Amino acid sequence: MLRFICFGSGSSGNCYYLNADGYGLLIDLGIGLRSLKKYIRNYGLSFGEINAIFVTHDHTDHVKSVGAFSGEFNIPVYALQSVHEGMQRNYFMSKKIIPDNKRILNPDTTILLEKFKITPFNVPHDSSANCGYFIEVDGITFCLVTDMGHVTDDIRLYIEKSRYVVVEANYDAMMLKNGPYPAFLKRRIMGREGHMDNLDTAELLSTSLSAETRHVWLCHLSEENNHPELARKTVETALFDAGKWIPGGFLKIDVLKRKVPSLLYELD
Ligand SMILES: [Zn+2]
Ligand SMILES: [Zn+2]
Repeated sequence: MLRFICFGSGSSGNCYYLNADGYGLLIDLGIGLRSLKKYIRNYGLSFGEINAIFVTHDHTDHVKSVGAFSGEFNIPVYALQSVHEGMQRNYFMSKKIIPDNKRILNPDTTILLEKFKITPFNVPHDSSANCGYFIEVDGITFCLVTDMGHVTDDIRLYIEKSRYVVVEANYDAMMLKNGPYPAFLKRRIMGREGHMDNLDTAELLSTSLSAETRHVWLCHLSEENNHPELARKTVETALFDAGKWIPGGFLKIDVLKRKVPSLLYELD
């Protein structure tokens, strides 16, 4: 049994939690330390059930509290080499990771931690580097990919293998175009190293999901340039047209909230 919780998703802070038999991982820690501690207690978890932190990339909404939490509980931090270097330079990361707790990951190279088999893979984005994670626990497959400028064959491959998928649906193209952001920021978000629009995510899922996929969570929605129901409907429509989703069917689709923790999901 694999347990999954999202503690926050979006530009105000990202943090995801996985637990198998009392051994737990965080993926990204961009929310405040006090909020995380409160959530851990609210879910009846213990701090001993957070045993490692995996980082996707060095943007502040993903790393703000990584150093502080790693330092306080003496927890190793796994990231690509250039993401570690980027965190070292990130002025907004309140505390740095001590050298003893740094662990270097290589793309497409699987590491083993207790029951977790974890494979990072490259994701195009305008940070120092970025990776998604493909995770396997007792044959349960899970994939998380966020802050994605465009889709690569690699990303399709890992999504195709996953029974559970967390994937970015950042913006609606019309809302972004007509919205309040300055032109340079709109270009950045829409660019090849920016973020995913709902239609891109819908296309990715409708062409890559296997018939085994049971649950998709849309993550990292923009507050200004997207709406949860719009993202959900766009993805549902594409999946319906592709014959991969029907209301009330085997495959569930949810939107992760920006600042409110999700349910605790039990994945099998
Ligand atoms: Zn982000
Ligand atoms: Zn980012």
